[in-house]
Amino acid sequence: MNPPPLLFRHADLFDGRRFRSDCDLRVAGGRVVEIGRGLRAAAGEESIDLGRRWLLPGLVDCHVHFREPGLVRKEGYAFGSAGALHGGVTTVLEIQNNPPLMESGRLLAAKIEALRGVSRVDYGPYGSLTPASAPRLAELAPRCPAVKCFLGCSTGAGGVRSEEDLRRLFAAAAEVGVKVVAHCEDNGILDRAAAELAGIAEPRHDRMRPAEAEIRSVEDAIRVADETGAELHVFHLSTGEGAARVAAANAAGQAVTGTTAPHYLLVDAEAAAAAEQHRFKVNPSIKSAADGAALRELVAAGRLQGIGTDHAPHPLAEKERPYRQAPSGFPSIDLLLPLVVAVHDRFGTPLEPLLAAVTRLPAEEFGLERKGRLEPGADADLVAADPERARTVDERRLLSRSGWSPYHGWRLRAFAERVWLRGHEVFAAGRPVGPPRGRPLF
Ligand SMILES: [Zn+2]
Repeated sequence: MNPPPLLFRHADLFDGRRFRSDCDLRVAGGRVVEIGRGLRAAAGEESIDLGRRWLLPGLVDCHVHFREPGLVRKEGYAFGSAGALHGGVTTVLEIQNNPPLMESGRLLAAKIEALRGVSRVDYGPYGSLTPASAPRLAELAPRCPAVKCFLGCSTGAGGVRSEEDLRRLFAAAAEVGVKVVAHCEDNGILDRAAAELAGIAEPRHDRMRPAEAEIRSVEDAIRVADETGAELHVFHLSTGEGAARVAAANAAGQAVTGTTAPHYLLVDAEAAAAAEQHRFKVNPSIKSAADGAALRELVAAGRLQGIGTDHAPHPLAEKERPYRQAPSGFPSIDLLLPLVVAVHDRFGTPLEPLLAAVTRLPAEEFGLERKGRLEPGADADLVAADPERARTVDERRLLSRSGWSPYHGWRLRAFAERVWLRGHEVFAAGRPVGPPRGRPLF
C-alpha cells in the first residue's frame, strides 16, 4: 500500500536544527516534498491542521537493546518498537548484548530478515566486535551502522581485558573502515572497587562503578584509536570528564565522537541510590550532579553527537533482587521525547540542541541520510506532539514488555500524539496503528 499524500498545516515545526513557527509540510510518496507557509492542499491530499502543535522528525535512538533473538521474554522487537513509537522514535540502532552476539555476516543478515513484519520502526542492528568477529568484519560492515566493543564488563558481555586485545580489535575495524562504538569502563578499576566494597550488602552503584573507570577507559580508547586509525564512538557518556575528553579529541580533528543518555542528564547519583528496587542501577552508573551539569553543557554546545536511551529492559522481579543479583539497565525508550524536553524544563538546557541530539545528530553520525531532519527528500517520519499537555507517567500504560519505568510518577510533557513512518500513520492515541512497517536501514 502506498502512503497517502498529506499536508500538515500550522505546525511549530522542528527541522532538525531549529523551530519554525506556524509552518506547513507536504508529504508525497512517503517523503517530505515541500516546507513553507500558507501551502494549499492539492486534490486528493489529506490536510491535517496541527493547531500550533509541534511537528518533529521521527526520533533516532542510536542505543537500544531489544534482546531479539535470544531473550525475547525480556522484550523483543514487537514490544520494543511499540515502546519506541510511544517515545516518538521511528528509527532504532540496536545492540545485541545477549547471545548470540552478531559475530558473523550470516547471523546479522538472519536477524535483520527475521525482523521484517515484526518491527514497527526502521532498524539497524550493530555488529559485535569481539575476537571471534574480528576476522569477519568485512562481512559485517556493509550490514550495520558500526560494530560494538565492550571495554568493561556489563550485562551479558565479557569485555576486553588487555590493551593488546583492544589494539587488535581496533586495528581490525580500522582495516575495513567500520566505525567502533564502545562501552568504556576500565575493568581493573571496576575490580578494585568491587573488592573494596565486597563486605557491603547494598553498596552504592556509583561507588562500585566509579567515574574514574569511565575516564580511564575513554582515555585508553582514544589513544588506541589514534594509534590504530580506528574511528571511535563512545556510547552513554556518564561523566563530564570522559565526555570532555571525547569532545576535545573530536575538536582536535581525531575521528572520535560520543553520545550520552537521558538519565545522566536528568538524575544524579543520590537520587539514583534512593530509588527503590535498583530501578536506576545501570552501567555506567549515574554520576554526580556536577557530571550531569557538565554533560548538559556539552549537549547544549552541540559537542556530543546525540542522546541514546540505552533502553535495556528487565522484569521488575529481577531488579528487586539483592544488589549484586539485580541486573543493570532499565526501559526508557517509551519516554524519549518527553525526557529530553524535561532536561530543558528542569535545567534550562536550550531545547533545540536537545532535540537535535535525538534527531539530526545521531542520523548524521551513523550515515542515515533521510532520517532525523525535515527537508525535501527526507523520509516522512513525523511526530506530532502537544508541548502544552503534561501527564504523570503511569508505567502500566507504557508499551515495552517489562511494564515498569524508573520514571513512574514523573510529571512530563510533549508526549507523542501521532507518529508517521515514511508517510504511513503508525501510532495514535497511545497505541500503535496498522501492521508493523519497519524496514532495515542497512
Ligand atoms: Zn547499552
